Parts: sequence; C-alpha cells; structure tokens
Amino acid sequence: MAARKVEIILKAHAQVTIVCNSLCPVLEVFVNDGLVNHKARSFEDGDLEGNVLIFVDSGDEGVNRHVSSLAQEMKIPVNVIDRLELCTFIMPAIIDRSPLIVGITSGGDAPIIARALRERLETLIPAGLGRLAKFAGSCRDKVKGVIPEGQLRLRFWESFMEGPIAEYIFAGNEEAAEKLFEENLLLAKNSKDAAVHGEVYLVGCGPGDPDLLTFRALRLMQKADVVLHDRLVTDEIMRLVRRDAELVFVGKQRGDHAMPQDEISQLMIKLAKEGQRVLRLKSGDPFVFGRGGEEMDALSSEGVHFQVVPGVTAANGCASYAGIPLTHRDHAQSCIFVTGHAKDNQLDLDWPTLVRPKQTLVVYMGLDSLAMLTEKLMSHGADPDTPAAVVDNGTRPQQQVVTASLGEIAHQVVKEEIPGPAIVIIGTVVTLRKRLSWFKPTNS
Ligand code: SAH
Repeated sequence: MAARKVEIILKAHAQVTIVCNSLCPVLEVFVNDGLVNHKARSFEDGDLEGNVLIFVDSGDEGVNRHVSSLAQEMKIPVNVIDRLELCTFIMPAIIDRSPLIVGITSGGDAPIIARALRERLETLIPAGLGRLAKFAGSCRDKVKGVIPEGQLRLRFWESFMEGPIAEYIFAGNEEAAEKLFEENLLLAKNSKDAAVHGEVYLVGCGPGDPDLLTFRALRLMQKADVVLHDRLVTDEIMRLVRRDAELVFVGKQRGDHAMPQDEISQLMIKLAKEGQRVLRLKSGDPFVFGRGGEEMDALSSEGVHFQVVPGVTAANGCASYAGIPLTHRDHAQSCIFVTGHAKDNQLDLDWPTLVRPKQTLVVYMGLDSLAMLTEKLMSHGADPDTPAAVVDNGTRPQQQVVTASLGEIAHQVVKEEIPGPAIVIIGTVVTLRKRLSWFKPTNS
C-alpha cells in the first residue's frame, strides 16, 4: 500500500522520505534510483519536521496513532492508510490526463465504489484529452490577443473542443490540428459577422427524478449561459446545470407569480439578443400546461432562434411511478389531461366529455379545486365509486399516493395533508395499482 502511494506522489514530483526498517522490492527500486530518501530505522518524532504531507502504514496501532496525533499537532496533513478516523485528508481515486486530473472520492466510506467509477470513467475520457489541454494551454494568450471579446472567444474554444481540431489531436495528428487552428483563428478574426447569436432552449426536465431527463436536456443544461427556472424544478435537477451558468428564478407559487409571464418572455428575448444561450427549464413537458407555447410565440415574433426539448410530463411520470397504467385494454381506451386550475373560483371544463366511461382522467393543478372538481364530475353522472388516486411529489423520494373513491378522495387528501405538487388520476385503472406498484419512495 505504501509503495502504491509513493508511486502516485512521485508522479506529482514530490520529494519523498521513507522511514522504515526494511523495504519491499518496489520501494527498494525507488531508493536505488535515487527517487526517494530512506531512513533505515524506526520512526522518531523529529522525522515529521520539514515535511508537508505524512502517510503512515506502520502495521503498529500505537505508532499509527502516535504519528497521526503528532502530525495534527504540527498542523501537517496526515493520512493513515485504511484508518479514516486517524486521517486529516484522504486520497481520491485519480484519473490522470495531465494537465487534466479528475479526482473521485467517497469521503472514505467506500473506496471500492470510487475505484469502480474511475474504471468506468477511464474508458470514457479520451486518452488524448491531456494533449488537447496542453495544446489549448499553449495557445491561450495568442487567442486572447486575436479575439479579445469574451463571448466570441468562448464560442471559439467551444468549437475547438467539439470540432475537428480536437479530433486531430486525439488521433495524434498535431500538425493538422495546428494548421486548422491557425485557419480557424484567422476566420474568427476576419469574420464580418462577428455578432454572436444567442439562442433559447425550452427544455422539459420531467417531474423530478433526474434519471428521467433526456440526453438532449442534459446536454443543453450543460451548455447554457443563463438558466430561467421555476418552482417545480427540483434542486437535484438544478445541480446538473452548468456550474458557472447564471441562475434566474422566475418561479410561480400557485396564483402568486414571481415574475409575470410577459416579463419572462421579454427577459429571454433580451438575453438571447445579447448573444447568450438561454435555458428555459420547465418541469414535466414544456408543451403540457407549461405555457411553453406562449413563450416560444413571443420569441418567434422577435426572430429569436429556439429549440424545444420534450420532457416526461407529470401524468406519465406519476402514473408509472404509482403503478397506474393510463390506458389498459380492460379499463380505458382513452386518456384525457385537463387542468384543475380554477379561474374566479370556477372550473370551466367540458364535463360531459370528462365523465365518459372506459376513460382515464388526469387532472393537473387540481389539488386546491379537488372538492369542486369531484362534485362537478358526480353531478354530471360520474359514479361516486369510481376509483381515484392523488400522486403527490411523483417520481421523487418523498412520493405519496392516496387512493379513494371519487366521492371520498377530496376529503382523504385534506385529511392526509397532501402538500403538492400533486396530480389526480380518475378511472378504474387505479385499481391496478394494487398489483403494479413498484416504486418505493425512500421516506415512506
Ligand atoms: N409542464 C408540466 C406541468 C406544469 S403544471 C408537466 O408537463 O408535467 C403544474 C402541475 O403539474 C402541478 O400542479 C401538478 O399537478 C403537476 N406536477 C408537476 N410535477 C409533479 C410531480 N412531481 N408530482 C405530481 N404532480 C406534479
């Protein structure tokens, strides 16, 4: 173990002293090659003096403890191999593509997982990435001189990363890479159309479980300069957004708009015209009760480029994670999504259509108006015994599902103090949940 550590720290050009009575063959080679100092004796307190990192692997509990506490007194970082409680630092598993280094750590809990992850990442990170970083490093000042404008320079580097120059370097053809680099730099310099075009990505991120993001959503989340997000986008998903992106919360509480719809659209237009890549992040699917249509309409009329990324809508996500198929040959041949958002305390819905048999009804934003909604359905002929479910915080660790008859569900939801966001599913498909429920929320 000690030999392995020495090997790693030698790579960082450290000066190493080993205090040990006898050496294993690997260490002997290092000593013979003059790479490390060797004090062939037992540890003495003075040995710590003048060192900046201490590793201990003595095999003697007393020595381990003694050296650890001595180092701590002297404020020198110390690592006792496989003894987390005696360490003041731990060594991450390392992926070395110098000058690029990736460190992975489980905080000492499970080095085996960190190592397994490293193995996977090793295969994903091109071996030539270090060369690419070196190449970029050697041209940084030059590029800065040629393209002083920050945003333009960022775009130049991005196309460098994603384009053929990087491919040449990965393939070991530095000469071709250099030639193309010079050409591209010249192009960027002489470009008449130097204005950077901004763009808006309208992205649906699903109901909460980050695993339900699409690849495209994740890619654009990593690319955006500014992110406009609202209340229903969870922190877990926000953590996947590019680290240095600017975050703008435009959230809405029920009925209480943090930023009026029109202002949101105007802000996006302004940012895109400045050349920014704007991510409009929406829960679920942006075109299902998300007002995505209105926002993109405003962009389109201003000639701003945009693209739309669909997401798993709450109805799909919640139904799957609650074990309720939205359609089923024996139960429902159609499924209707409606909004339960009441205007002036009124629900303006096509009731006769909603109470048709052999159909599943899914209600978004229906928690507050649930009593009114179920009353209306029953007064238009729905059977009070129709099974109903309310899925709260669907697909998230705190998911809760309340089931009751149509006549009882509103009462039940109040009784159980369901916090929302929640979706209502009405129809005999709800009975299938007894057999098909599979998702075990972590806090239930
Ligand atoms: N565009 C979104 C819907 C936005 S409207 C979509 O496609 O899912 C907001 C409503 O969506 C909430 O009132 C609630 O009814 C529903 N909703 C969103 N996330 C939810 C979740 N994780 N669990 C249950 N309902 C959710």
